[in-house]
This record gives sequence, structure tokens and C-alpha cells, in this order.
Amino acid sequence: MKLVSGKTVAVIGAGLAGLSAAITLQDAGCDVEVFESSDRVGGRVATDVIDGYQLDRGFQLINARYPELVRLGIVSELDFIVASRTIDISLGTSQVSLGDPRRHPFSALNPATGSILTKVRFLSYLTSHAKAGMSVEEELIKYGNLYARVLKPFLSGVFLTSPANVDAVSGKEIIRSFISGKPGLPAHGVGELAKALAKRVNTIHLNSRIDAIDQVDADSVIVATDVTTAAQLLDIPNVPKLASSTTWYHEIPEGVTSSKNLLIDGQTRGPVINSIAISNMVPSYAPSGRTLLSSTTIDFSSESEVRRHLAIMWGVSSSDWALIAKYEIPKSLPIFGVGAQGAQSSQFAEGVFIAGDYRTAPSQNGALLSGRLAAQELLLN
Ligand SMILES: Cc1cc2nc3c(=O)[nH]c(=O)nc-3n(C[C@H](O)[C@H](O)[C@H](O)COP(=O)(O)OP(=O)(O)OC[C@H]3O[C@@H](n4cnc5c(N)ncnc54)[C@H](O)[C@@H]3O)c2cc1C
Repeated sequence: MKLVSGKTVAVIGAGLAGLSAAITLQDAGCDVEVFESSDRVGGRVATDVIDGYQLDRGFQLINARYPELVRLGIVSELDFIVASRTIDISLGTSQVSLGDPRRHPFSALNPATGSILTKVRFLSYLTSHAKAGMSVEEELIKYGNLYARVLKPFLSGVFLTSPANVDAVSGKEIIRSFISGKPGLPAHGVGELAKALAKRVNTIHLNSRIDAIDQVDADSVIVATDVTTAAQLLDIPNVPKLASSTTWYHEIPEGVTSSKNLLIDGQTRGPVINSIAISNMVPSYAPSGRTLLSSTTIDFSSESEVRRHLAIMWGVSSSDWALIAKYEIPKSLPIFGVGAQGAQSSQFAEGVFIAGDYRTAPSQNGALLSGRLAAQELLLN
């Protein structure tokens, strides 16, 4: 079936990569049509509204300083609420804070999260080149408790896999952007980013799944699907491993916490890698008077294991918490394993280009960048 006729560029997939490609092509004067298999734009960046709760399909934050977002000038359209850059670490039966020295000038001095000397040495890690052929963990393990209690659990939530599985060079780029970033969320959920991008695209066909490249009739095609679908469409033999994750949403009684900070477990006493009272940070995530907790796991775990671990981390009983929703995302992020290199050319074949976070970096910025690069290469042809 021919879905398009005439001289166009067809973009397959309306995730961030596809939307970014479409915007770049349109700005250069091309006729662009985007084909999206699902009934909405955004791919992995989406928000559901259920019973007055805003539920992002997987907990994620937007870094307002991502170069691609700055380039697009889009954050001002998002009603963006800046997140705290302080992290709370659950240790024993208490919590210690580490983070923004402007707000917590003494938090860095707390020896429970590593000595002050270790923290100063860590600053030199951030400014130095990563060593090729090593994992993030191999580079960071020398920082002792700072690594074991803070960086490892925090970074597991960033990469959605152990830092032992992640290449030191590409991993450091992501770590740097988190440390120097301005994380936050739109008041109406992370999906607002995709919606704002989509508003800039003239033609998006929803519910339009493409099963073969020749289904679209266009001068050029950009395949901006997830990596598994791209491999099927283009017959690519080797695809990167994918990290899976589950985000659990609980309604918790008011007063359990007033913290807006991300909480991690410094002692890895269960499957939860991070937890945040997301409606304390962005009140519109829950109906008035309710508190919504968002917690992430990366290994298979039952709700009772998650609930038991959350009780330890938050230091309260979790038996009366209501499970609002659970999002299992088997293909959350591509894993850039040791030795992985960002792909060079976006061109796959004559008139066929590829984009997606798996080509650049496992992040919103990586996806947007890959889309722009594919479009720019197409324009040069
Ligand atoms: C749980 C989780 C947490 C994350 N946390 C962060 C974070 O804090 N910060 C950050 O920067 N990034 C984060 N990310 C990563 C970020 O969301 C992704 O890197 C980015 O959204 C990937 O965009 P993409 O366009 O490459 O792919 P996708 O979002 O997967 O888009 C691909 C699109 O193609 C469509 N499609 C697939 N097959 C077809 C077909 N046959 N025909 C037509 N359309 C098709 C899909 O429906 C989808 O819309 C997180 C991701 C997850 C899942």
C-alpha cells in the first residue's frame, strides 16, 4: 500500500529523533511526512493521565541545558519546573543529603557519602578524559563509598543498568551533562516535550505503522524507530543490548515526606534504584491533597519486594500505600557497552537514513541529535 505520493521525505517514527529530523528538514524547505505506528507522538517520552494523576511512561527528567533543547529553544514552551539537584541517600535508618552546595553547603562534608578528599578527587574525574576500553564502574570504583553509596545507585538509575555494563567514554558524557544540567519536568508531564516538538511538524500520520521501506513513496526515508524495529526494517544483523526498567506509581499518605529530592539506597537493600515524591516536585502530578510516589526498578521484582524496599528507604510502613500504576518498559534504553562507539554516518543506503538514541547517546539529547544529524546528512545528498 502506498501511503504517500509525490516528492517528500518520509520519517518513520515520531519519537524525539523523528520529530527532530522532521523539524530540521522542514526548516530547510523540504516536504516532510512523519509516520507513527501508535496513536500519539513521543515514543518513550509520554505521559498518561489516570484518575487525576499524571503518569510519565517511565520516570525521566528533562535537562533544560541539553544542547539540542537549547538549540530548539523549546523549554520556554513547557511550563518547566526545575528539579532539586540534591539527592537523598538512605543509609541504615536515616537519610543523608548530597548535592547542590549552594543549598546544602555542608552536605559534601558528610563522611557517610565519602571523604572530602574523595569528593575533591571526583571533580578531577569530571574534567579528565575517560579511558577507552574501561567501564564506568572500573573508572569510578576507586572513589570507595562515594561510588558504592552514591554514584553507583544514582548512575544505575541514569543508565538503567549497572555502571559496570557501560562504556567509560560515552558514560562520562552523560554523567557530565547530569552534573552541570538543569533537570526538571513540564507541569503537565514529560510528554509535553514531545507535544511541543510535534506542533512544529506540519504532517504527522498517527496509527500508521510502516512494515517495509517501500511502503512509503518518497525521495528519501529516515528510519527513526526504536532499534529493534529499525533492524527489522533494514535487515541490520547486530543491535545493541537494551536495558529494561519498571516505574511504579504509589499514592502515599500525606505527611510521609515533604522532600522534593530523589532518594536512592546507599546500601542496595532491594530492587528499587530510585524513588521520588514526584508530586512534591510538580504538584500537578497528583490531585490536590494526594502524594504520588514514582519509583524505578531495573531487575524483575514483585510488588511486595518493591513495597518492602520502599518502606526501608523512606523509613515508614508502606502497607497502606495504593499502587496506582506500573509501567514495564522492556526496551527502555540502548546500553553503550565497553568499546561501543557512536555511529559515524547516518546514511544506511541510497536515500535511506537512520536516527535514534541508539546511534548517539541513550538520552533525549542523544535522540534529538541523531535526528538532526540524519536530516542534515540527507540534505547534503
Ligand atoms: C524509563 C526511561 C527513563 C529515561 N530517562 C531519561 C532521562 O532522565 N533523561 C534523558 O535524557 N533521557 C531519558 N530516557 C531516554 C529517552 O527517553 C530516549 O532516549 C528517547 O526518548 C528516545 O527517542 P527515540 O526517538 O530515539 O526513540 P523512541 O522514543 O523509541 O521513538 C521511536 C518511535 O518510532 C515509532 N515506531 C516504531 N516502529 C514503528 C513502525 N514500524 N512504523 C512507524 N512508527 C514506528 C514508535 O512508536 C516511537 O514513537 C529515558 C527513557 C526511559 C524509557
